[in-house]
Amino acid sequence: MGGTEGPVCPQHAGEVRMTLVTLHSEHGRPGEVMGAYRCPQCGHERRLPIDIGGEPGPLVSGGGA
Ligand SMILES: [Zn+2]
Repeated sequence: MGGTEGPVCPQHAGEVRMTLVTLHSEHGRPGEVMGAYRCPQCGHERRLPIDIGGEPGPLVSGGGA
């Protein structure tokens, strides 16, 4: 239960929750990632910063190569 609740989509009169689709690590912002949310009904997208508690997880380990 619980899980990540997205923001309310502004395109609807009622409360339509947007769902988290992807995460992006921000340079120079340790402990915070940008989450891309999308509305399941209209496809509206929005980005919001997500506080991950300052602990770099597997999603933000900026590696590559
Ligand atoms: Zn929507």
